[in-house]
Amino acid sequence: MSDVNMPDVNGDLVYTCIGCGGSYDIYDFVYTCPKCGSLLKIENTRFDQLRKIPPDTWKKIFDSRRNTTLPELSGIFRFHELILPIIPLEDVIYLGEGQTPIVKANPELSAWVGAGFYVKNDGLNPSASFKDRGMASAISFLNHVIKVKDLDHVLGICASTGDTSAAAALYLSYLPKSKVQAVVLLPRGKVTPQQLSQPLGSGAQVIEMPGVFDDCMRIVEELAGNYHVFLLNSKNPVRILGQKSYAYEIAQQLSWDTDDLVVVVPIGNAGNITAIMDGFVDLLKLGIIDKLPTILGVQSHHADPVSRWRATGEYVPIKVSLSVAQAAMIGDPVSFPKVRQLVEEYYDDRFHVVSVTESEIMEGMLTANRHGHVVCTQGGESVAGLKRALAENIIPSDRRFILDSTSHQLKFASFQQMYFDDAFDPDYGIQTLDELKNKPTSLDANAEIIAQFLGLKKRD
Ligand SMILES: *Cc1c(COP(=O)(O)O)cnc(C)c1O
Ligand SMILES: [Zn+2]
Repeated sequence: MSDVNMPDVNGDLVYTCIGCGGSYDIYDFVYTCPKCGSLLKIENTRFDQLRKIPPDTWKKIFDSRRNTTLPELSGIFRFHELILPIIPLEDVIYLGEGQTPIVKANPELSAWVGAGFYVKNDGLNPSASFKDRGMASAISFLNHVIKVKDLDHVLGICASTGDTSAAAALYLSYLPKSKVQAVVLLPRGKVTPQQLSQPLGSGAQVIEMPGVFDDCMRIVEELAGNYHVFLLNSKNPVRILGQKSYAYEIAQQLSWDTDDLVVVVPIGNAGNITAIMDGFVDLLKLGIIDKLPTILGVQSHHADPVSRWRATGEYVPIKVSLSVAQAAMIGDPVSFPKVRQLVEEYYDDRFHVVSVTESEIMEGMLTANRHGHVVCTQGGESVAGLKRALAENIIPSDRRFILDSTSHQLKFASFQQMYFDDAFDPDYGIQTLDELKNKPTSLDANAEIIAQFLGLKKRD
């Protein structure tokens, strides 16, 4: 343990408006600029001090924490200096998030997609999606603020396509019940039964509303603007801080070599892709990596405002239609202005977005999972997006590819079942393939009958 480099409480974080540049106290609960209404990001005004540390020292620091058994440094806070350097480690809430594996794609699957690739499986987080990364930072921060400001009651609230509410409810339920209340707003019938069971199981107040996610988001924005609540959507930039860890982990898992790397990410509200791009920019600024990776965003053609923007140069919010990538079924992504800034400032021609059909998403998910993976429909979207980008020569196949499977297969089992049963609402526009279907066979509890059914040969 003695050779682990322990982080200090350091840095000075402020909210900075991405529109007018206004700057606000990090300890106030504000989510949009009080002056111009734009989104806020979080800046460390002492970032230059971090630049004085040589890149090799940074690598040693982060690598030294790799083997620690200290819970506080086992997850996203391995990168404390780049996430929330203002909070002491004892305020960190660690529930087992982060440090998810990178799994090499099965060779037959790679041949089907058109290139070798890896899946970084964020379904292996405690609430089974990447949202836990952002909740670990947001709830650790909340825990810290409650102590610093001696708050006696906080209501944490979010709108959700399912996974944000699962993660928010889980992390909030770890804080003292006497001080913290959890409320989640969901679009009725637009989250899977597994996702609905999660906040209910964590004891949150679950409110179901008519409409889609964009409608829930509008309500929650109104509540956050007019009432004392702690907003847990990725509009709260403290969420983005934690989600940057996905980029840091990729770099570390590749021994800090990101040359030729392409990261494939499904886009919904665009918080995740913002955080991932931001995270790589941090590493570039500190000299820890030499080059930014290429980012390939993927959207369903039923919810593809960012893809349309990339194709036409014009951003227009759209009205979504039904998508199996339900966690990304968003027509007006809240973090889009941040994506645009990151592309203009840093990524330029290293940023692509492809749009894929609903059938392609299902085929991506089912084919991946038939080859040893456990990806969700959004992970299937990543698979389908890579396949299409390769087929359309948007990206050459000799790059290194890491695909984000943003949640676990089991959360989206109902879409798999609809596929097997041919039970999709026609609005999805899905044509099923019989070879991807599967169903149980009922037989008597009789070895001979089963052997006959399987065509087994008898031993002599
Ligand atoms: C939230 C979510 C997304 C979309 O991420 P954004 O940050 O909203 O773009 C994708 N997949 C899963 C499983 C999610 O829960
Ligand atoms: Zn402003």
